[in-house]
Amino acid sequence: MEQKKKKVVLVGGGFAGLHVAKELSGSDIDVLLIDRQNHHQFQPLYYQVASARLEPSNISFPFRKIFQKSGNIEIRMAEVIQINPVESKIETSIGSFDYDYLILATGCKTNFFGNEQIQKFALSMKTTEEAIEIRNKILLNFEKLISAKPEEKESLLNIVLVGAGPTGVELAGAFSEMKRNILPRDYPHVDFSQLKIILLEGSKHTLNSMSEEAKSASRKYLEELKVVVKTETFVTGYDGKTAVLNTGETIATQNVIWAAGVTGNIIIGLNPENIIRNRYKVDRYNKVVGTENIYAIGDIAYMETPKYPTGHPQLANVAINQGKNLAHNLLKKLKGKEETQYEYKDLGSMATVGKHKAVVDLSFLKFHGYIAWFFWMFLHLMLILSVRNKLLIFFNWAWNYLAKDSSLRLILKTKKE
Ligand SMILES: Cc1cc2nc3c(=O)[nH]c(=O)nc-3n(C[C@H](O)[C@H](O)[C@H](O)COP(=O)(O)OP(=O)(O)OC[C@H]3O[C@@H](n4cnc5c(N)ncnc54)[C@H](O)[C@@H]3O)c2cc1C
Repeated sequence: MEQKKKKVVLVGGGFAGLHVAKELSGSDIDVLLIDRQNHHQFQPLYYQVASARLEPSNISFPFRKIFQKSGNIEIRMAEVIQINPVESKIETSIGSFDYDYLILATGCKTNFFGNEQIQKFALSMKTTEEAIEIRNKILLNFEKLISAKPEEKESLLNIVLVGAGPTGVELAGAFSEMKRNILPRDYPHVDFSQLKIILLEGSKHTLNSMSEEAKSASRKYLEELKVVVKTETFVTGYDGKTAVLNTGETIATQNVIWAAGVTGNIIIGLNPENIIRNRYKVDRYNKVVGTENIYAIGDIAYMETPKYPTGHPQLANVAINQGKNLAHNLLKKLKGKEETQYEYKDLGSMATVGKHKAVVDLSFLKFHGYIAWFFWMFLHLMLILSVRNKLLIFFNWAWNYLAKDSSLRLILKTKKE
């Protein structure tokens, strides 16, 4: 008698989920991929959408297109609301689904640390839509500036970025280059000399999780680009017009972008004792502790290993490799073969501040400047899905490089907005 095919329900098609589905494509396992978006998103390049350098479609990839030829991968666009581990079932916005194996790859959302006022008024950048929202808001405020009353101008001219991790640093550099190269050409009659890009960081350093070399080089680059950097400083309140800092200082601003942290997208239903710092506690095979057939991978997984006793960094590379390892293990399990424990091979990290200004930390070498910048571009180009998008991005970057300009500054709001 033919054995019934095993059914995997995979929640989330980010870096981790996408690689599970790709590895299981064409296999004997039925996969149901559920995501609240209809596309995979390449988050490291959001800042280029927010600063009008890349089209959203260059970094967003519809699942139905990716898996057009994969007969065993079904796709549903839905929000997963609850897990019922006893019945091996999940509840979603479009009904319930049974599973043999459940894989949670739900990633993270922006962490406002419980400050509802900041959450209401600040912009964040955790989805392609939010990156477009930043683009709209910043461009619209430049338009408003032309006819703004003198007392309103300062708040339109101050762009405050909260958090000097890679996202804050990359956005600060991109807005600064926009101020220098693009705004004088787009608005020849407007004085942008008072436009200030202010980068606030709670710790002592920009790019605090990187090497000493990266920290000091990024600070130097930001200062060369005239970004106002304030470390050991954080925002305690923001009402849409004024940001209040822990130092007591206030900044008039209608542009606050919050890049100060993330927290896991936890779905209710599992034992809260196995949720650590808003991540599911997993064993070395990414199985959620206390469960038999539920796995968590990527940003949402908390795995302790001798090398990473407090969990892995929340990075694309960890997510991709956990996704691949889990898919291979499921295939091995069905063949009765021994499964492989996950071990993270740290390939390093990098960030770019502006043209010819990037920092790269590899395990065996740390460098910055011109070569680091080309290295950053090459690597990101290679990581982007599809040849068409690689080419489009390459031409966009080449054009930006030569002309110091782009033609993507569209303000596209919905009627409701
Ligand atoms: C702006 C930015 C820049 C970054 N830059 C870098 C970088 O340069 N290098 C690097 O290594 N990492 C970077 N990261 C981190 C990296 O993107 C993450 O580590 C990675 O995306 C984690 O992958 P994941 O699959 O775990 O989660 P994600 O990629 O976040 O995917 C989660 C998916 O789950 C879906 N989802 C969530 N909850 C539900 C639900 N309840 N129901 C249905 N679907 C759901 C979401 O829609 C999403 O598609 C960056 C992150 C951001 C935000």
